[in-house]
Amino acid sequence: MKTMDYTIVGNRCVARQVYRLELRADDPQFAPAGEFVNLALDGFFLRRPLSVFDSGKGRLTLFYKVVGEGTKALSAMAPGQRLNLLTGLGKSFDAARCREKALLVGGGLGAAPLYPLARELSASGKAMTVILGFNSACDVVLEEEFRALCPDTQIVTLDGSAGMKGLVTDAMAALSPAFDFYYTCGPAVMMRAVAAQLGGNGQASLEERMGCGAGYCWCCTCQTTDGPRRTCTDGPVFDVEKILW
Ligand SMILES: Cc1cc2nc3c(=O)[nH]c(=O)nc-3n(C[C@H](O)[C@H](O)[C@H](O)COP(=O)(O)OP(=O)(O)OC[C@H]3O[C@@H](n4cnc5c(N)ncnc54)[C@H](O)[C@@H]3O)c2cc1C
Repeated sequence: MKTMDYTIVGNRCVARQVYRLELRADDPQFAPAGEFVNLALDGFFLRRPLSVFDSGKGRLTLFYKVVGEGTKALSAMAPGQRLNLLTGLGKSFDAARCREKALLVGGGLGAAPLYPLARELSASGKAMTVILGFNSACDVVLEEEFRALCPDTQIVTLDGSAGMKGLVTDAMAALSPAFDFYYTCGPAVMMRAVAAQLGGNGQASLEERMGCGAGYCWCCTCQTTDGPRRTCTDGPVFDVEKILW
């Protein structure tokens, strides 16, 4: 865990209320590990957690949706402005749990943390099917990025304006080739439905509301079969069979 100042190099709208934020660290050698970062915004007491989409030496890419005052303020920031980030937070998906073929199911910006996992699976020669669900065509993000890694990337929209009409669980029901492990991130109601359909052989990334994001305040406690766990430090990725939804 480390705090680091970053400079915004890009902050552009890529879908309805969704922004791609490109950052450059002051230390060009610094590579932020971890599942998510916690971002400080002027005038807001609590940091905002966002998943790492891509990172390398001195650079970081995040995607965020404007849902409240904090993300609205972030969307108004311009290249050259600076942000302080707490980095190296959270435990990532474990690509090694998949033996041969994985199913990845994302809802909305739940797609963002699935992307580094897809890259890892692809680099280790594992096959995958990716299902990404959105409300409408104007909400679709990251389709090309996933398709470049996985030709079997399926888009599902609630209103049918892009890809298959319906829910991610409808696309899952139509899947024929088997997979041995699944990974999911998105709204809790979606992940619960995915887990109900697929059972225990998977991991889910939870999005509990967070206070400190670093394990001190226990604000983001979730209930598991091992007892209460902090989403920020024990997760946000948990084995599905351990989550008491
Ligand atoms: C581990 C993790 C990873 C996340 N990754 C992403 C991502 O990659 N892209 C993205 O768009 N969103 C992501 N979220 C959700 C994101 O943190 C919230 O949408 C954001 O904090 C909302 O801030 P706000 O000020 O606009 O909203 P407000 O509702 O005004 O926020 C009020 C408070 O509630 C917290 N909060 C509100 N919604 C959430 C939420 N869903 N999860 C956690 N805290 C919340 C805020 O951080 C803030 O402290 C992630 C959340 C977690 C826990």
